[in-house]
Amino acid sequence: MMCPFCRHDETKVVDSRASQDCAIRRRRECLSCGRRFTTYERVEESPVKVVKKDGTRVPFDRERIRAGLEKACYKRPVSDVQIEEIIASVEREVQQEFDREVPSRYIGELVFQALREVDQVAFVRFASVYREFKDVNDFVEELEPMLRATLPE
Ligand SMILES: [Zn+2]
Repeated sequence: MMCPFCRHDETKVVDSRASQDCAIRRRRECLSCGRRFTTYERVEESPVKVVKKDGTRVPFDRERIRAGLEKACYKRPVSDVQIEEIIASVEREVQQEFDREVPSRYIGELVFQALREVDQVAFVRFASVYREFKDVNDFVEELEPMLRATLPE
């Protein structure tokens, strides 16, 4: 996003909220001149890209997160509404904090934190099965050190 004042192309998002028509209103600050301006962005037109560990980029996909969560929560007392809330909170966080790209690891951490609060068993399951669903949960790859510290031996 280019600064309208000095044309510098790096800005940081200082505030972000939904406005009408599915647009996101963002308050941005130029990293060069420090001035602030507001943009309205349509989510569909600028999907956040997820940067995987190997450097490849894929579009942010809430259905991937859902697939992983549903497997982890199978036969657990976690409702569809709770799963949807986790996904929505992850999505919201990503859109607020990141401009174009988000590290896969960050998404994984958000999912883990949210799931741990909702259901401990589902959390451990999610942690232990993620290897088998690499294509679904590849955003979790980098969490291994954290998993080792969290999983019971
Ligand atoms: Zn500027």
